[in-house]
Amino acid sequence: MHLGMHRCIVVFVVSTTGDGDPPDTAQKFVRKIKNKSLPHNHFFHLHYALLALGDTNYANFCNGGKTIDSRLQQLGAKHFYATGHADDGTGLEVVVDPWIEGLWDALKKTFSSMATSDQQDTDLSDCTQDNFHKNASGQEKNKSDLEVDLHLLKLSETDSQKGKAITSDSIDVETLSTVLAASLKQSVPPLSESALNVPALPASYLEVCLEQVSTEGETVPSDKDSYHEVSISKAVQLTQDDAVKTAISLELDISEQNLAYQPGDAFDILCPNRASEVKELLLRLDLQTQKNGAVQVNLLKNSSKKAAKIPLHIPQNGSLQFILTWCLEIRSAPKKAFVRALADFTQNSSEKRRLLELCSKDGSADYNSFVRDANVCLLDLLRAFPSCLPPLSLLFEHLPKLQPRAYSAASSSLQHPGKVNFVFNVVEFPARPEHPARTGLCTGWLAGHVSSILRPLGTVPASEQSGLILVHVRPRPSSTFHLPADPSVPVVMVGPGTGVAPFIGFLQQREKEREANQEATFGEMWLFFGCRHKDKDFLFREELERFAHNGTLSNLIVCFSRDEPDAAGTVNRPTYVQHNLSLHAKNVASILLKDKGSLYVCGDAKNMAKDVNDTLLEIIGNELQIDKLDAMKTVAGLREEKRYLQDIWS
Ligand code: NAP
Repeated sequence: MHLGMHRCIVVFVVSTTGDGDPPDTAQKFVRKIKNKSLPHNHFFHLHYALLALGDTNYANFCNGGKTIDSRLQQLGAKHFYATGHADDGTGLEVVVDPWIEGLWDALKKTFSSMATSDQQDTDLSDCTQDNFHKNASGQEKNKSDLEVDLHLLKLSETDSQKGKAITSDSIDVETLSTVLAASLKQSVPPLSESALNVPALPASYLEVCLEQVSTEGETVPSDKDSYHEVSISKAVQLTQDDAVKTAISLELDISEQNLAYQPGDAFDILCPNRASEVKELLLRLDLQTQKNGAVQVNLLKNSSKKAAKIPLHIPQNGSLQFILTWCLEIRSAPKKAFVRALADFTQNSSEKRRLLELCSKDGSADYNSFVRDANVCLLDLLRAFPSCLPPLSLLFEHLPKLQPRAYSAASSSLQHPGKVNFVFNVVEFPARPEHPARTGLCTGWLAGHVSSILRPLGTVPASEQSGLILVHVRPRPSSTFHLPADPSVPVVMVGPGTGVAPFIGFLQQREKEREANQEATFGEMWLFFGCRHKDKDFLFREELERFAHNGTLSNLIVCFSRDEPDAAGTVNRPTYVQHNLSLHAKNVASILLKDKGSLYVCGDAKNMAKDVNDTLLEIIGNELQIDKLDAMKTVAGLREEKRYLQDIWS
């Protein structure tokens, strides 16, 4: 991005990804502003507002936005409006809605004061959407003496990252910039009190044309080129039938595609929306015209609206069934803005009132319990509000892009050439008044997809099934979550439940390296694993015991959270991985602080990773005899040196 030397107003919307990093789309910008040779007044002309998006379930909340914010300040830029920090853990809209609301007033004041202070005629009408690009690229300048450039930057990912990116998809930047431009245009001259009020947006800025077509040949989305169709060669249930959760391990045959990966990398899996849900949605929206529901969508056909923008993930000429199956996240919880828009298409007045209540300023708790926490999706809302009949264009505007699901490789290609394994729990959402019981989109689909070859652990497959069941995958390499380059560096791995997945890959790799190079020095490998019951969900038990037996694992430390203590057990036996970390505090501290080893944590972000982090602070504080603040600095140092690495999900 080029920010000209004239006074400039910029609105930033910045998401956070990975380990508190700015998203890929912002990397170049961040590199540029971090350049140490920039003078301290480099951005003296910049007046900006910044909305940072994050999730308090992860360390380094909103760090993408905070990084940019503090650097801009160092370089002389000024806030014209307080920075917002929105938390996806409690609902982005709690901060986003009032922040956007207050933005208009702040902009109005800023433009007014600029105009006054320069005492010049200011043609703010040039700050329209059309001129925005010209100004930003510097090719065409405003004719007025005072140049006021308005920039709206969305520094966020379109694809979510492994480790869950907080995207600003919920913030319709396109709309925001159109509104902004329209508001400014209306406000010239003079700046009246109501000038910057948000004008009512058209209910939809997309035109959708429906035609009947054949759906033949439509199998997976248009960006399928980046995916590989591979066969599932093995499916094994790793847990007993009466375990709390069902864990399944899949082996994919990637030999023909020649896909390379390292332990610690993940694979994206494409999964479609459920056919039954797509069908119900089409029927409910009165769009099921034929037996097969083959309806062609022609976006923008005959459209005269210049502002109309089609989200990139929607093919311009796809069938409706295809779009709803492969392109849109129809299971996502509708954001407040969507609920508000749905109310406009609700006939019944009490239903309409209820929808407006849910998305009102004071309705956050209500919205959270009714929509967010209940995992309510669009279809559930349409069932609960029978008089609501939104146009298709509204769905295209508000439903996010269907994202692939990432799973960590639970294998090493040294041990399984041409194969990759991964493991997952079948997610179950219990029945609620708002919806029937259902399984997670991808995990439920995969479990159903492999049901014909799924076998219990320890049994032999009835016949060679390879090649029968296909799935679309693409590697998602990790930039950091790998074994240390130097094999003599010791490592501590913490991975309860399916969080053990990447460590199975690490250990298979190390086992092979040890076999191949018996003279080399290998650092210690400690694994802290936890599950609920020793006999029901001790994932990879045989393999882990083999690693411990043959010395690949120096220490295998396991706890069971829900087993009754046996005769020898004490009431306060360790139940969680962090309790075992405390019991082995001396060794953990010595590996990290003395031997410069690495700590890897994989699994649940919401509780486990936070508790493990707290335990680590205690261990380091006690070992170095320092207070919590200094322990936090030491831990931050470990993160910076990439010796404390997390691969966590909520
Ligand atoms: P889980 O729900 O994390 O449970 C595993 C064990 O951890 C249970 O014994 C559980 O005990 C215990 N636990 C609960 N709260 C804890 C806490 N605060 N601290 C420490 N341990 C605690 O296991 P899971 O269902 O297998 O879930 C693993 C997580 O890893 C998921 O979020 C998954 O998305 C993520 N993940 C998966 C992969 C993959 O490739 N499949 C990769 C990375 C991460 P109780 O239930 O008895 O309390």
